[in-house]
Amino acid sequence: MTSNAQVSQLYKAQQGYFESGVTLPYAFRKAQLKRLRKGIEKFESRIMEALHQDLHKHAMEAYASEIGFLYEEIDYMLANLKQWMEPEIVTSPFVTYPSSSRVYREPLGLTLIISPWNYPFMLLISPLAGAMAGGNCAILKPSELAPHTAAVTAAMIKETFDPAYITVVEGDGSEAIPALMQFRFDHVFFTGSIAVGKKIMEMAVPHLTPVTLELGGKSPCVVDEKVNITVAAKRIIWGKFWNAGQTCVAPDYLLVHHKVKDALVAALKETIVSFFGEDPAASKDYARMINTRRFDTVSAYLDEGQILHGGQTDRDNLYIAPTLLDDVEWSDPVMQEEIFGPVLPILTFTELPQAIQAIRQHPYPLALYVFTKSKKTEKMLIEQVRFGGGCINNALVHLTNPELPFGGAGYSGMGQYHGRYSFDTFTHQKGMLKTGTWLDVPVKYPPFKNKLKMLKLIMK
Ligand code: NAD
Repeated sequence: MTSNAQVSQLYKAQQGYFESGVTLPYAFRKAQLKRLRKGIEKFESRIMEALHQDLHKHAMEAYASEIGFLYEEIDYMLANLKQWMEPEIVTSPFVTYPSSSRVYREPLGLTLIISPWNYPFMLLISPLAGAMAGGNCAILKPSELAPHTAAVTAAMIKETFDPAYITVVEGDGSEAIPALMQFRFDHVFFTGSIAVGKKIMEMAVPHLTPVTLELGGKSPCVVDEKVNITVAAKRIIWGKFWNAGQTCVAPDYLLVHHKVKDALVAALKETIVSFFGEDPAASKDYARMINTRRFDTVSAYLDEGQILHGGQTDRDNLYIAPTLLDDVEWSDPVMQEEIFGPVLPILTFTELPQAIQAIRQHPYPLALYVFTKSKKTEKMLIEQVRFGGGCINNALVHLTNPELPFGGAGYSGMGQYHGRYSFDTFTHQKGMLKTGTWLDVPVKYPPFKNKLKMLKLIMK
């Protein structure tokens, strides 16, 4: 744990570093993003090992969602940063003649980035890349609930960067974050739960610090009557049980057209067996719950419906089998809370408007997935439901496209990032209008007598 005096020292060091202007030039940002990439490469095996210790993540999962993802994100930023930093020339209204206008992108300054435990490395480093591209300094706060990853991340950052530029503060969030946020940050980027997100926003109020909140919620997965069942089953099982369901954008529950329910359930069961075997506890490809607290919450959901598949648990090993759950009610805790674990409730509908109505009775989800061959179904869901982002005939993968904004709506979050959107989040857009002095149109100056008519001609 870092003491108040240490936090104050860190903050002051970053203030001095930022104010020196060293983070401003393109060459600096480019070089530092390259350093970040090299740092990850150097620590790659240690990061993967830590992710296995914290979450039993298979190397394939760890690489795809925490390491490879970051290489792609950093490379994308390196390829585009120069262009993003160019002032954008925009048109100017005639009344301002003779003028030209530009939008300048300037760094925000000191940023604080806070991450959860489920993708403990990626969710800290991906926003960091955005903060660096924007020319900012950053203090990173990893989750204490993934301690091995937090330690290796701190070691990597310490070896790679001057702490006056980028540093890690470890410790219990409820102590470390208030200690940090007594100082004014120019932006706080938080990924985590709704409950803590509200606290972050409260702590930001006294300094009017802008926040990005990447939160959670219940992401529905709609399966239409006209659908490729085999492909849908594979993609749903993959998306739901990746990291044992501990993914913010995991399909939380299924809303299936009643005519295809039996066929889909059969395909889902078959897919679980083909992915993880008859005994997923023995599979090296299947992750574990993060801790006993989360294990107890998620395993309690198993009593709330009829188990169609799975349901086995082993508390000592934090294991919950990939489980399909039938006969749940909207009023059950499993349908009221974000599941965030390997339990998939299956509900049915007879007409699409009924499914839309059910989703709309709940807060805007972070993600929505629809499996369908019908363009009309796609359109209805996109137009009639508000949610962060999503996929048609797929799950999770929208977040791998740096061309797409990633973020929630309402209770699932505010603000967005990835690719250009990260750069936008971590920069201020400064609008500047420049007027030539060779002409000074007198119409705007008093006395106004007889000038209104002329103004009306210009400003119609
Ligand atoms: P959490 O909110 O408990 O913790 C997140 C961070 O906040 C941690 O670093 C923690 O140390 C800190 N923290 C905890 N208590 C605090 C307090 N009282 N004051 C200040 N800081 C505090 O979340 P979690 O359990 O680590 O993560 C799970 C949640 O995160 C789920 O709801 C999930 O949906 C969400 N999530 C969202 C995204 C996204 O991109 N939208 C991604 C991953 C996870």
